[in-house]
Amino acid sequence: MPPAALYIHIPFCKRKCAYCDFYSVAYDRSLAGAYIGVICGQIEKLERPVSTIFIGGGTPTALETADMKRLLRSASRKFAGSGREFTIEANPESLSGEKLSLFSDEGVNRLSIGVQSFSDVKLKRLGRIHNAKKAIDAVTLSKKKGFDNLNIDLIFGSPGETLDDCSAEFARAVKLPVTHISCYCLTYEKGTPLFDAKKRGKVVPADEDHSAGMYSLVMEYLPRHGFKHYEVSNFAKKGFECAHNLNYWRNDEYIGLGASAVSYIDGVRKRHVPDITEYIEKTTDGESAIISAEKLTGERKGKETAAVKIRTAEGIGFNWFKKKTGYDLLQIEADAVRRLSGAGLIRHKKARGAGSGISLTKKGFLFCDTVSSELL
Ligand code: SF4
Repeated sequence: MPPAALYIHIPFCKRKCAYCDFYSVAYDRSLAGAYIGVICGQIEKLERPVSTIFIGGGTPTALETADMKRLLRSASRKFAGSGREFTIEANPESLSGEKLSLFSDEGVNRLSIGVQSFSDVKLKRLGRIHNAKKAIDAVTLSKKKGFDNLNIDLIFGSPGETLDDCSAEFARAVKLPVTHISCYCLTYEKGTPLFDAKKRGKVVPADEDHSAGMYSLVMEYLPRHGFKHYEVSNFAKKGFECAHNLNYWRNDEYIGLGASAVSYIDGVRKRHVPDITEYIEKTTDGESAIISAEKLTGERKGKETAAVKIRTAEGIGFNWFKKKTGYDLLQIEADAVRRLSGAGLIRHKKARGAGSGISLTKKGFLFCDTVSSELL
């Protein structure tokens, strides 16, 4: 059995951010304790070898130290000192020296810190509970504690944000000892307070051209400072690309544990119930916590692979695609490739052998969601 990536969802947060539609609830000590017990039991039972581990959320660092220790210990046993990528997400307000020591002791070798912004005003508007100083301190302390593989998440395109504001955010980011930057344009997801505020006219979103201007600025700025643009939203110093996420973009298999987590094994995508109590009850009673399962076969699977792999800067090599899916990309995506090339969104590299394929143009990066849905 080839190894699969392992994702563990920790659906607790201290407080919900205004823009967030991930599944998470307010931290509750006894619920968290029961949940971690269930997850540890599931990790023990995993038979499949694991290639990478990613503990995300939610806010994994919202867990108290004893629960965190149980979880990390059981996850790190899966690796037994292999040195493979083991990431945990952390938020500045709940990251402490004690937790960082625990991470090192249990083999965590990559941290992803939810900085989001270096502006206190913007952080407040986003509903974050940390300030810029806390964020900078969290990154500095992580580095001091020996974490060299450090990602920060940043959001751009918030209401009222100017190009100068955006530029100042990234200028601050590259001065920090980070090796990876994930950046996302603010979106207004249904059911979030930010979505409602927009509906009531309380906030005015940045228009599309302005957001595109900010993204263009980031795409130009970060590579000049040593961060290679390797995926639509991700930039890394050489050798620090996120192996766990590359697994998703290659449409390789992954196991998801926890409420709302998704698995993709044997061509079947399964989603767990987005409810902690139900997840605990079902799994404790030996029932399935899966609420939906979708089998991806044939061309559909090929098209899904194309839609995710096109997000990477290297794009889709025709040989790679044929080997991976059994299909000729130019046959199953003939119309889409013609349309997207015509619109200047993808380039078609016509080299001999391994060099031929398609990849996003600069304009394609700006409209990557359109490109992906055309390929689906
Ligand atoms: S953005 Fe992160 S910290 Fe904020 S509510 Fe969502 S998962 Fe929690």
